[in-house]
Amino acid sequence: MDHFKIGAAEVVRIEETMVHFDGREFFPDLTESVLQEHAAWLAPFFDIPGFRMPCVFQSFVIRYGTLDVLVDTCIGNHKERPDFLLAHRLDTPYLARLHAAGLRPEDIDIVLCTHLHVDHVGWNTRLDNGRWVPTFPNARYVFSREEYARYAPENLVPGAPPPFFDVYQDSVLPIVESGQASMVSGEHALNEIMTVVPTPGHTPGHIGLRVQHDGRSAFFLGDAIHSPIQIAVPDLNSSFCEDQALARASRHRLLSEAADRGSLIVPGHFVAPHVGHVARDGAVYRFLPAGSNRGSAE
Ligand SMILES: [Zn+2]
Repeated sequence: MDHFKIGAAEVVRIEETMVHFDGREFFPDLTESVLQEHAAWLAPFFDIPGFRMPCVFQSFVIRYGTLDVLVDTCIGNHKERPDFLLAHRLDTPYLARLHAAGLRPEDIDIVLCTHLHVDHVGWNTRLDNGRWVPTFPNARYVFSREEYARYAPENLVPGAPPPFFDVYQDSVLPIVESGQASMVSGEHALNEIMTVVPTPGHTPGHIGLRVQHDGRSAFFLGDAIHSPIQIAVPDLNSSFCEDQALARASRHRLLSEAADRGSLIVPGHFVAPHVGHVARDGAVYRFLPAGSNRGSAE
């Protein structure tokens, strides 16, 4: 779904691009037999015969009153990513799609990066006469303090290769230098309906966003969950999860909360319908994609 509501808050989805990952590389512990066991419901969300995981790169803009909050900024255009070819020198009409949704970069009040991986910070900046400048000139960019700390030059281990050096240089540092970065720690209220919540594991300082209004709730999960198969098999980590035990613990906690509260889940990379609900089925969880009987988003 490209539009949905959480009480009076409206959410607009902006897609950047889509790829298929090798499922065995993405989920090293995922087996053929597990895929077959879940094939009946999983087929729309996973290329089971090809063992490939479809992955959408997308942002969500939450519009509430006069506030526009953009969650995650995808890969970005023209970034040099020779070690990660799907992100290398991308050139997509992302900003045109933002315009088509009725939003200008100037309208965005808050940018929230769930973490600082390459596909969540790209549109933080755009190329302007050879310089990387903030794409959203009026926004406060919210970063997790713990997440930022591991990339900051003052915290790098002498002699060790810096993690994601290029990403930091072109997509994070210009925001800090422009004075638009806002580091948050622990639970942090953005306003009366939106709260930043620590969800560590995929990365050490990974954060999510809980939105609650008028009896409705949603949880923007970032990369705590990449694929619906992880709802049925919550212990399944991606090869990109940096702290495997913590990633599992956060995923279990988020699924439990989503099931108990009836929250809409808004993960970073799900294919259509992109969002849904979580139901308990005995000791396990089931995914209820939006638009299915119990999965409508409003
Ligand atoms: Zn991601």
